[in-house]
Amino acid sequence: MTTIPKALEELVTRSQFIGADQTLVVFGGGNTSAKGEITDHLGRKKTVLWVKGSGADMTNAVAVDYPALYLEELLSLKQFEKLSDEEMTDLVGKALVDPNSRRPSIETLLHAFLPSKHIDHVHADAICALTNHKGGKKAVAEALGDGFAYVDWIRPGFELSKFSSQFSDMEGIVLAHHGLIVWDENSDVCKDKTMSAVNKANKYLDSLAVKPAAKFDHAGPSDQELNDLLLALRGKLSHKHKRVLTIDNRLQEISKRKDLPAIAEAGSSSADHMLRIRPWSAVLPEKADPTNSIPVIDKYVDRYTKYFEANKSLLPQGYSMHDPDPRVVLLPGVGSITTGSSKNEGKMLADIAFHTHSVAGKVLDSFGSADTIGDAEVFGFDYWPMELYKLSSKPKPQKFAGHVFVVTGAGSGIGRGIALELAAQGASLVLADLGDEGLKETEKLIAASKGLKPEFVVGDQTKESVVIETLNSAIKNFGGFDGVVMSAGIGVSDSLETLTLDKWNQGLAVNLSSSFLITKHAMINLRKQGIGGSLVYIASKNAFSPGAGFGGYSVSKAGMLQLMRIAAIEGGSAQIRANAINPDAIFDNSKLWEGGIREQRAAAHGVKPEELEDFYASRNMLKVHVTSKDVALTTSYLLSDESSRTTGSVIAVDGGVAAAFPR
Ligand SMILES: [Zn+2]
Repeated sequence: MTTIPKALEELVTRSQFIGADQTLVVFGGGNTSAKGEITDHLGRKKTVLWVKGSGADMTNAVAVDYPALYLEELLSLKQFEKLSDEEMTDLVGKALVDPNSRRPSIETLLHAFLPSKHIDHVHADAICALTNHKGGKKAVAEALGDGFAYVDWIRPGFELSKFSSQFSDMEGIVLAHHGLIVWDENSDVCKDKTMSAVNKANKYLDSLAVKPAAKFDHAGPSDQELNDLLLALRGKLSHKHKRVLTIDNRLQEISKRKDLPAIAEAGSSSADHMLRIRPWSAVLPEKADPTNSIPVIDKYVDRYTKYFEANKSLLPQGYSMHDPDPRVVLLPGVGSITTGSSKNEGKMLADIAFHTHSVAGKVLDSFGSADTIGDAEVFGFDYWPMELYKLSSKPKPQKFAGHVFVVTGAGSGIGRGIALELAAQGASLVLADLGDEGLKETEKLIAASKGLKPEFVVGDQTKESVVIETLNSAIKNFGGFDGVVMSAGIGVSDSLETLTLDKWNQGLAVNLSSSFLITKHAMINLRKQGIGGSLVYIASKNAFSPGAGFGGYSVSKAGMLQLMRIAAIEGGSAQIRANAINPDAIFDNSKLWEGGIREQRAAAHGVKPEELEDFYASRNMLKVHVTSKDVALTTSYLLSDESSRTTGSVIAVDGGVAAAFPR
């Protein structure tokens, strides 16, 4: 291990401090640097620039996020008149001390061409608020004094770096619609200069701010109204790719303003925000409902398509339009609704939207009207080849990215196996079970395989209120759902002559009536969402091939198959599919065999309890043990579009039992 040079260490510490404050930088925005000496691989003393890697997030900055580049090599690039982004990236890459290190920021030369040892470049909200209107230059001079240079919008790259270098004898530079650059020989002083400029900007803005124009006064939507709206929106926004919707209330105050459309029109606070959240956000009407909201999305798509058509001549050959749906939808009285392949992505977009729209609100309050970069410049950034390159090198999305499924009985056995499989394929999940102990264990296993954090509903699924709560959890947390797996179940043993009515009723309640309630409410919601859905019933080999002494169970599972068929018939017109799986003898993590059932089934087959697994395996045609993973893979197939032409069917996952062949 080599020791980390002091300047680099100071840079990392300073970057963590800056990264912790989202009003300075959000998700990979901004960059910091330091200059210092190293002894290179040939033993030569060399001056290098450490600069933040492209896309690295300062919040958790570590030394490897800051590749070292030979400063002399970088400075020699100043001789060029012009460099395209590609040429510049290529030449900057050649100056890396270690060619295998992280790709350095696109703004590397900005840091190289300014001579100071420590440099901060942040996309601070307050600085952007100073510049995002027609009088930006004057406001910056009044807020920060005349020590700061003001540079009108130039897209980050060679030209901006070279132009900015002429101001090295000033206190710092404000880049309009972009951010701030300050520098010092001392790392702490550099950080203080950043904070001081931002504080001055905030003070100035506060001194000008007038109360926003009138707010509308109706209360936000009721829970039911919000559910219906989310379902309709998710359906609308998931036609091509399934999406998760994330609600965030931080913009609630702003969303109540009458001038909300003007705020959305003001554009990104710092240009790099638009790469994540699009150049504008969609604004739903006051008292939004499905009927008046869907046309807003249509209009947005229409506008985005026209903007692309008008500017596409600026695009290099071979690139097509981004998907034209909004990433951020502003809902009056509530805040923002963001779309993504997971809640994590939705939250990240909500963070960016919060800063971008808060800045716009501040600009309107302080200066009356906003001004942003022109459409062609917006397009130049939205379709920046550097970013398009990043998109093209992204890994293929997982099979269930953006998909939402509800799984009952997910705390053990087959339900847990299904949850693990769906999570491994990128699904967002609502997991339900009677107690939370099993669910927590399932969550741990999902986390260990890097799946998305699931939502839990703990409760008795034979109660209608719990069923409704479970499905509402999917709507509230993810905007809706694409499928439900009914896996909760209990074994009901005893011969008919000894079976009590209570036990019989309990079996029906857990295995059948609960499935009816889930089916009923899932179908109501899926119909509102309007993009179909898949219901998967975990029945049993016993539904077709019952055995003595297990009647209460077999009858309930046979009833489940009939329920599935009716759901297929009634749901077909809404593209809702319903299918069942008949597993047999699944033992891994299963609670079904507890409470004496294992012993009773073993006695019924004339074997010892510990021989039961092997007995079942010897009984099937393939002579195999059947596991929850086998059922999970079939479930995954039935939930996916791979089975889009299959409804009303039963698939046996039992190793082959002739008496239980579907018929
Ligand atoms: Zn920047």
